[in-house]
Amino acid sequence: MKTNRFAPRPDLKIYLDGELVPAPDAKISVFDHALLYGDGVFEGIRVYNGRIFECQAHLNRLFESAAAIRLEMPVTREELVAAMEKSVKANGVVNGYIRVVVTRGVGTLGIDPQRSACPSLIIIADRIQLFSPDLYEKGMAIITAATCRNHPNAMPPRIKSLNYLNNILAKLEAIQAGCEEAVMLNHEGYVAECTGDNIFIIKDGALRTPPPYAGLLLGITRAVIIKLARRRDIAVQEMMLTRHDLYMADECFLTGTGAEIMPVTRIDNRVIGSGVPGAITRQLLADFVEYRSQ
Ligand code: PMP
Repeated sequence: MKTNRFAPRPDLKIYLDGELVPAPDAKISVFDHALLYGDGVFEGIRVYNGRIFECQAHLNRLFESAAAIRLEMPVTREELVAAMEKSVKANGVVNGYIRVVVTRGVGTLGIDPQRSACPSLIIIADRIQLFSPDLYEKGMAIITAATCRNHPNAMPPRIKSLNYLNNILAKLEAIQAGCEEAVMLNHEGYVAECTGDNIFIIKDGALRTPPPYAGLLLGITRAVIIKLARRRDIAVQEMMLTRHDLYMADECFLTGTGAEIMPVTRIDNRVIGSGVPGAITRQLLADFVEYRSQ
């Protein structure tokens, strides 16, 4: 068998259904519906200075995602926080990342979720792979993908589910174009979000971002940026945006747990604004750095 150079560090301790186990032993069944059908939910959370960032907001979103697919959480909110803290401590994570995964559990080969009785809880606390620092200074080049975002009446993007193929198809387009992110339009052609990030533009001094009904994941970082912008009396407009609005923006940036605030300076090879990260983007990035260290 081929050795996998992306295999996790063997000394990593993974929380699996109540126990901390070494990464090579952290395994779930081939009959888990998460594997068979992508039936499950997850969260990606930052740890800054040993503290779980925006913990309540992440818990709310996770429990809501689970409720949306009628998945009974195997732990309470308090138990989950305790388990996350245990994983963070066991792996010596001070500044890093937590991945919480809840699977539907082992079941029969059919899709019926009622025929799988026991959800599994997995927690991975590790270092985080960051974008290179010069991208934050120069800004990222992105594309708009031909793959549109899942229709909200088919697979609501607000559910952070284990089925990310829609995003992966768009990510493949980005990679093909030599980029790291892609904007996904919704089924009506309006901007929704990127494959793993939300998107903002600045136009005439106002901050604009697609509203929830555009069909997007309500990002935790998105909410923080909206709060920080309001604190600075920057007008925040949740409104439908077209690709034209992106091209004509004065500034553009992405938000996400992994990326934090990533300036965008090119979309589909068109230069955005002055071609360098804009003043408001840099201000909000600085505010975010201060906020996360509080
Ligand atoms: N949209 C999608 C599709 C995502 O997967 C994510 C999270 N990686 C985001 C937006 C950003 O959300 P958050 O700020 O909560 O990480």
